[in-house]
Amino acid sequence: MTVHICQTCGVAYPDTSAPPAECPICEDERQFVPASGQAWTTHPKLLEDHTIEWTEISTGLHALKVTPNLAIAQRAFLLETSAGVILWDCLPILDEATAERIEAMGGLAAIALSHPHYYGNMHSWAERFSAPVYVSAADAAWVQVPSPWLRFWHGDLERLADDALLIRCGGHFAGGTVLHWDNGKGVLLTGDIIQVVPDAKHVSFMRSYPNLIPLDECSVTAIAAAVAPFEFDAIHGAFVGRTIENDGNAALERSAARYIRAINMPPKN
Ligand SMILES: [Zn+2]
Ligand SMILES: [Zn+2]
Repeated sequence: MTVHICQTCGVAYPDTSAPPAECPICEDERQFVPASGQAWTTHPKLLEDHTIEWTEISTGLHALKVTPNLAIAQRAFLLETSAGVILWDCLPILDEATAERIEAMGGLAAIALSHPHYYGNMHSWAERFSAPVYVSAADAAWVQVPSPWLRFWHGDLERLADDALLIRCGGHFAGGTVLHWDNGKGVLLTGDIIQVVPDAKHVSFMRSYPNLIPLDECSVTAIAAAVAPFEFDAIHGAFVGRTIENDGNAALERSAARYIRAINMPPKN
């Protein structure tokens, strides 16, 4: 049997002899099936020419990214919390060098996901490290591989450690989640529930990034309100370079206000 992986979103499917007929995550209006049609690959095939690159972002925080770029090309993060190492979001592959390096750090205490686009090969990571996988119950229907390691959490907050808290923001997905790490200054890991934009001073919010479907005012107001009670200096988004280094709370507040102003502006002509 083979783990089939969707080439467009990088999400893994159950071990079967043939790939599934379709990828529900890419069929959804928030992702896309390429004009050339649904395409599949496998984990062993990807390992032939892809590895995971590590970048130390700050003390106790590492970004992990598949190189060369694969599917959505998101970053995952490892953060060293008071309860052990937590993996934030996931990748389509797990190479042996990365697995051994994480084992040398003491393994994974938990895996937590922002939303379905970054589920990657989470069930394989969970098995390798015997780590629980935290997915908002609001997005349970998007999980493609049943696993005894899955922990569907309910409500708006889920504490993973004294210093690590999951916050459900909704928006992009009903279960859209960010992680607040209280490392002294405060760090927010946002996937693309809150999207850091290229100026590294603002964020934005969309229902679909590839299909350019905006979010409504109520959803953006709710996202800003969900994270406002927590202090954070840095905001790390899903993509390389998409980091706000300082004064994250203010950046988020002015970005939400800017967005809401823009979608409510009267026509100019
Ligand atoms: Zn897909
Ligand atoms: Zn997404």
